Amino acid sequence: MYKKICSRCSNISYSSTNIGKWICSSCLNDLTSIKALTVDHTINLAQIKRKLELMKGSQVFGRG
Ligand SMILES: [Zn+2]
Repeated sequence: MYKKICSRCSNISYSSTNIGKWICSSCLNDLTSIKALTVDHTINLAQIKRKLELMKGSQVFGRG
């Protein structure tokens, strides 16, 4: 996942690919020449994993 911040309106637009033309969804500014930032999902995954582990732990605890 990639994101670009528009130089004209500061709107953040997201895309699954960094290939091809990139137009701001808000003001239609051409963002193709702007460097894309990668959107990192690892933090969310780690949080979900931790929650699952906590749930697991409580189940084990409930069973005694
Ligand atoms: Zn814009």
